[in-house]
Amino acid sequence: MRGTSSPRELFREMGKQGYLGITVPERYGGSGLGYTAQSVVQEELGYSSASIALSYGAHSNLCLDNLYRNGNEHIREEFVPRLCSGEWIGSLCLTEPGSGSDALAMRTSVTEDRGEFVLNGSKTLITNAPYADLMLVYARDGDGYSAFAVRATDRGVSKGSKFSKMGMRGSPTGGELHFQDVRLGPERLVGQRGGRPGT
Ligand SMILES: Cc1cc2nc3c(=O)[nH]c(=O)nc-3n(C[C@H](O)[C@H](O)[C@H](O)COP(=O)(O)OP(=O)(O)OC[C@H]3O[C@@H](n4cnc5c(N)ncnc54)[C@H](O)[C@@H]3O)c2cc1C
Repeated sequence: MRGTSSPRELFREMGKQGYLGITVPERYGGSGLGYTAQSVVQEELGYSSASIALSYGAHSNLCLDNLYRNGNEHIREEFVPRLCSGEWIGSLCLTEPGSGSDALAMRTSVTEDRGEFVLNGSKTLITNAPYADLMLVYARDGDGYSAFAVRATDRGVSKGSKFSKMGMRGSPTGGELHFQDVRLGPERLVGQRGGRPGT
């Protein structure tokens, strides 16, 4: 992977070499291996660059593995292969300006309107967010929490600039991500609706 100059180029190269989607079956563009293989790849990447290992983990594990395991067939067919090939870069969005360790205090919320979900709120400190094409976003949903596959191109999504960090500067960490009345079809729900930790 020497000579790559941008995260996009790097992710495409990692996709070509089969490093992305290691835990995803080959049918969906992955390598059909397991968590041990993924850990080995991440550790080896980390010997060269902790930043790249961090971005790789956010893409391959936090976002892609999670999407494959909990996603419906639409998500598996349409989104998972693009993340496996590196055509798309992924993020997981949990942290907010007012909730970090206390993640369940999140204020991003979802409501329903005419058969669609409507997402409103902000996230921050998200690995890969400046380049992310697909974001797995958690939101308060009534008394529980739901997760959604959100595309960067969905109407109502906007991104702040990336943070200038003291370290891990090769892993882009997003400034604020805003979701304003982002309308999502039912196929964008990832996993069960309105889940509550511990139940
Ligand atoms: C480089 C980087 C990448 C990140 N990538 C992502 C990402 O991809 N997706 C994502 O969702 N988030 C991401 N985060 C955010 C990360 O998950 C949060 O920073 C983390 O959850 C802590 O939240 P906080 O920064 O708001 O700190 P706080 O929750 O405000 O904590 C500040 C300090 O208080 C301590 N503390 C908090 N609560 C308690 C308590 N009850 N008792 C005692 N001490 C306590 C903490 O240990 C910490 O030392 C990233 C952060 C960084 C720095």
